[in-house]
Amino acid sequence: SGCLYIVATPIGNLEDISQRALRVLGEVDLIAAEDTRHSRTLLNHYQIQTRLLSLHDHNEKQRAEQLLERLQQGQSLALISDAGTPLISDPGYALVSLCRSAGFKVVPLPGPCAAIAALCAAGLPTDRFSFEGFLPVKQVARRTSLANLADARATTVFYEAPRRIEETLAMLVDELGAERQVVLAKELTKTFETFYGGRSEDVLSWLREDPVHQKGEFVLMIAPASDNNSEIPAEAIALLKLLMAELP
Ligand code: SAM
Repeated sequence: SGCLYIVATPIGNLEDISQRALRVLGEVDLIAAEDTRHSRTLLNHYQIQTRLLSLHDHNEKQRAEQLLERLQQGQSLALISDAGTPLISDPGYALVSLCRSAGFKVVPLPGPCAAIAALCAAGLPTDRFSFEGFLPVKQVARRTSLANLADARATTVFYEAPRRIEETLAMLVDELGAERQVVLAKELTKTFETFYGGRSEDVLSWLREDPVHQKGEFVLMIAPASDNNSEIPAEAIALLKLLMAELP
C-alpha cells in the first residue's frame, strides 16, 4: 500500500544526497516539493524525472487531502523542501500528521539539516540543545525571545535571515551581555562556508566590519548560560557539594 517518504536534500553541496534518497526519488509516483522549479533543477542534476507537485505553506492543507487520496489508491509519494530536511522550519507538518493519523507509513530518509550541521562543528556543548527555528520578525517579540535565554541550560540554535542578522546580534548583546559566547555558521557546505565564534560583541563587530559577512545563509548558536554567572561564591558551592555528599 501507499507510503510517504520524507526525503532530505542538500543545503548547498549537491554531493550531500544519499544513495537511498536518489533511488526513492526516482521510484515514487510523485514528489511533493515547496518550489517545483527549484526542485526540478535539483532533480535534473541527478537525472530524476519523477513528476512534481507543489506543496507550500499556503496550499498545504488542501494538498495534504489530495496526497492522502493518492496514498489510498496505493501510490507512493516523497516530500522534499527547497533545502535540507522537510518540516524543519519548512512545510510538511500538516501532511505528515494527516497521513499518520490515517494509518499510512511515513518513512524518513535522513540527510542534511543546517541546524545539525552547524551544531556538530561549532564547538559549543551538544549534550543538550534547543532548536528555535526562526526568531520572531517583530522587534519587540524578537528581543523578548532572546531575553528569555539568559539562563538557558542548553545550547540554542536559530535560523536567521541575512537582512536581520546584524540587528539580531545587536539585540543579543543588549539582552544577554557582551560576554555571552556565540557562534555563527554561514554558507554551510558551500564554497564560502564560515564559522565565526566568540563573545557576542566580537561576533557583532565581525558582522559590521565587512558587508560581505552579512550575506548568505546563517545559523546562529548561543552557548548555555555559564555557571560562573552565579551569585554564589565558588567556595560556598564546594562546601555545599561536600555537605550534600554527607547527606543520607
Ligand atoms: N529545512 C532546512 C534544514 O533542514 O536546515 C531549513 C529551511 S529554512 C526555510 C532556511 C534557513 O535554514 C536559512 O534561512 C538558514 O537560516 C538555514 N540554512 C539553510 N541552508 C543553510 C546553509 N547552507 N548554511 C547556513 N544556514 C542554512
